[in-house]
Amino acid sequence: CGPKSRINVGTATCGRAAGALEVYNNLKKRDWNGKAGVYKVGCLGGCYAEPLVNVRTPDGKYYFYGNIDTNSFWRIIKTAEEPPGSKTSPYLWAIAQERKPGIFRGIQDLELIKVLNLGFSEFFQPQVRRISGRCGLLDPESITEYAAMGGYLALEKALFTLKRRTIIDMIRASGLRGRGGAGFPTGEKWDIAYQSSDPVRYVIANADEGDPGAYMDRALLESDPHSVLEGLMIAALAVGASQAYIFVRHEYPLAVQLLRKAIASARKVFFLGKNIMGSNFSLTITLVESGGAFVCGEETSMLQVMQGKRGESQLRPPYPANRGFHDHPTVINNVETFANIPWIILNGAETFREAGTEKSPGTKIFCLAGDIKRMGFIEVPLGTSTQVLVEKIGAVDKESIKALQIGGPSGGIVPYQDFPLDYETVASTGAIMGSGGLVPLGKNRCMVDMARHMTNFMSSESCGKCSICRGGLLELEARLLVLTIGKGYKGIVEEIEELSKTIPQVSLCGLGQTATNPVITTITYFRDEYEAHVKGKC
Ligand code: SF4
Repeated sequence: CGPKSRINVGTATCGRAAGALEVYNNLKKRDWNGKAGVYKVGCLGGCYAEPLVNVRTPDGKYYFYGNIDTNSFWRIIKTAEEPPGSKTSPYLWAIAQERKPGIFRGIQDLELIKVLNLGFSEFFQPQVRRISGRCGLLDPESITEYAAMGGYLALEKALFTLKRRTIIDMIRASGLRGRGGAGFPTGEKWDIAYQSSDPVRYVIANADEGDPGAYMDRALLESDPHSVLEGLMIAALAVGASQAYIFVRHEYPLAVQLLRKAIASARKVFFLGKNIMGSNFSLTITLVESGGAFVCGEETSMLQVMQGKRGESQLRPPYPANRGFHDHPTVINNVETFANIPWIILNGAETFREAGTEKSPGTKIFCLAGDIKRMGFIEVPLGTSTQVLVEKIGAVDKESIKALQIGGPSGGIVPYQDFPLDYETVASTGAIMGSGGLVPLGKNRCMVDMARHMTNFMSSESCGKCSICRGGLLELEARLLVLTIGKGYKGIVEEIEELSKTIPQVSLCGLGQTATNPVITTITYFRDEYEAHVKGKC
């Protein structure tokens, strides 16, 4: 049947919101006469230019198109049928060539031939796409494509050539820190479960991503679900678990659908369940859909829900790695953490450390949103400067940005300046890394109103178990509202300050302990705005 072009339409949730399904359906129904095939893929990360389409021609060239609409179909058709395509098209983003030989593992194996417009070069050049490289190029429903791009080689290596102890030592030596927010060393967590005398152990992927402005888990699950499954399987093998779970956000229907399909494919292709790949390792993976509460992303609350109880956080210790699901040792890691595991197993701990900093090694996916021109998800080495993310990738002037919200609604809002994005530096500003949401805020944003907005979210999401979190956040929000509507009074800023410092001290879980971060950081850095509200100058 001869070589043919492959047309990849980005149909992750971001693409669908911009009309990608219409693009896909129109291209799919065309009679290509054997010259091209049309596929659904996930997201390349450049959400600002959705719908995104890329065409791979039989000579291994990739033509990237952005902002595609029905008027621009003919350009894709022309490229697919008569390469090299229309080089002057306003929709054509860039042309790249697959490097040969070896396995093509994703965007990191492409060499740029020509960059045309839409900021492709500025958006991708600072990135190191270790775990998100396949996103937007791979059909997430196809286990065969994942395997062809090097998928499941790490599992095979772990199953047949590595001891369980060696796997844990590799993860430990890599210095991989949990990407869900707290940054706890992954190898140490695994080691606790591994060393337990309890023979029943569990592994859980926490995909209950609830931070507004953060969607790295969704992007990975919708674009490359098998990478998360592979990491989960290796973790279960290493710690000695025969049952794994994925706790996934109910509001991510596409991710749920693709995960179900990925689990079914793995079951069929290499016997996920019993004797995986002919080994003596058996594992079941069960999907649990969360009810949609933000607090259920907190691990003790998540475990409660998974055991059929009300989603309320519990006192720690005991930590889940010691005593978790049904009182057995349970390793809980975030989606992005698991996606890093196959890369480490294949490339080694030392190579993993080549990106990032001494204490924060590796890469991190950040979600860029807010007052910038180019939004999307990106993967950069930890320690990359905020200037690169905001000004180069986000494409805005330094002068137009006042502040950065880092780490979601319970992160912090700090003045915009150039600093490295690693766990230690971010913590030193008073914010937290969180799961990786980064929202630059423009000059005309009111910091008091931003703090009120975040407090409103956290107050609504409190589980209500602790009176200080339940009532204190409401009190705090009420005072912030009084300020923002111009009814401030002498002493109100001090009241807000005292409340925001007291709530974390007597709250049981991470939600209450971090809920007032936006208020504390804005009072620290933007106190003049609070005072101006009191004086009626805002
Ligand atoms: Fe619930 Fe808040 Fe207490 Fe956490 S701090 S247990 S969210 S009331």
